[in-house]
Amino acid sequence: MFEANSDYLKLPGSYLFSTVAKKTNAYIAAHPDAKIIRMGIGDVTQPLPPAVIKALHKAVDEMGCAETFRGYAPDLGYEFLRKAIAENDYRARGCNIADDEVFISDGAKSDSGNIQEIFERDNVIAVTDPVYPVYVDSNVMAGRTGEYDAKTEKWSNVVYMPCTAENGFCPAFPERTPDVIYICSPNNPTGMALTKDQLQAWVDYANKNGAVIIFDSAYEAYIHDDNVPHSVFECDGSRTCAIEIKSFSKNAGFTGLRLGATIIPKELKDKDGHDLYSLWARRHGTKYNGAPYIVQRAGEACYTDEGKKEIKEMVGRYMHNAGFIKDSLAGMGYEVYGGVNSPYIWLKAPNGMTSWEFFDLLLDRAHVVGTPGSGFGPSGEHYFRLTSFGTYENSVEAMERIRKI
Ligand SMILES: *Cc1c(COP(=O)(O)O)cnc(C)c1O
Repeated sequence: MFEANSDYLKLPGSYLFSTVAKKTNAYIAAHPDAKIIRMGIGDVTQPLPPAVIKALHKAVDEMGCAETFRGYAPDLGYEFLRKAIAENDYRARGCNIADDEVFISDGAKSDSGNIQEIFERDNVIAVTDPVYPVYVDSNVMAGRTGEYDAKTEKWSNVVYMPCTAENGFCPAFPERTPDVIYICSPNNPTGMALTKDQLQAWVDYANKNGAVIIFDSAYEAYIHDDNVPHSVFECDGSRTCAIEIKSFSKNAGFTGLRLGATIIPKELKDKDGHDLYSLWARRHGTKYNGAPYIVQRAGEACYTDEGKKEIKEMVGRYMHNAGFIKDSLAGMGYEVYGGVNSPYIWLKAPNGMTSWEFFDLLLDRAHVVGTPGSGFGPSGEHYFRLTSFGTYENSVEAMERIRKI
């Protein structure tokens, strides 16, 4: 039996954001006049697009009218939204995805945390290192741990695939063959995106080894380069080895509204022959009662011409910040990554400093809060994450202060 007070608390990710908050609050208490600029959070700041607000208002009014009131949503999502997603995000890009292969949810965090439920407990999980902590924590909490090695702080059933500047932040195939592989591209936290060839190589590897790729496309809207795929389903053979998890948070600003989707091809099986489509449909229908009607209408509005245009503008503003931050830091001599197909800038702490030493330095000397790379996994040590989700003014001010350190 898994002990709630022990194993999963050993994860590097589990302390990260609470430690950042604790240190920041202690600093503010000691320096009440310091004007802190927060570049650590992975949350958007711009308000929802007008097309979304309009759709919300309309749907709210429908709910107050006897003829158009809706009760429980269909388990797997309203047809109008499943169709809009399948058509715009997949078929328009040449991906063969049917409407009923799209499962609507309340977001990519829950889906990426829950998806492990449809895999066998003894499955070996591969994650990139650094990693979005949810992938590791959810598997460890489910008991998919094997042996814990205190020296390396690793579990035998969780395989870490280091991503550093040395391999261009693209993981190499692990020595031990995994059953489930989590890939997030464009990546949180490194900001790097896999090219079509790189992702195709992973799809081929998964098919050859009977593994399943869980592809997190939360930052798809930030892709700028033509050779970076927006979906794993752009790769040949992906229908027999991949699941994709989508979010409306970082593109359309739904972090507080909550909406996401998971795409599972009907023929997808794990290595034991389990039908993953049916398992997820059953899991979803049993433990979840659907995203709210009004929110699903808001999601549909993202695919109207007006919605698409407004989202593009919003993402463009964040990317303007990202480019500015990246160029400024590079100009100061920092080693910088990301910021081109991603709102995240991943930099190397100068002079061999650890991630936390650099955190303290930025907080103390520039009053800028970022996120220490080591919190995302051992290979994140000596790296640091800044986000472009703030305002342009704050991004400019932060760079001015960092320049003066
Ligand atoms: C922000 C983020 C999510 C969370 O998305 P929600 O839809 O808001 O739950 C998922 N995956 C990654 C990698 C993220 O950074």
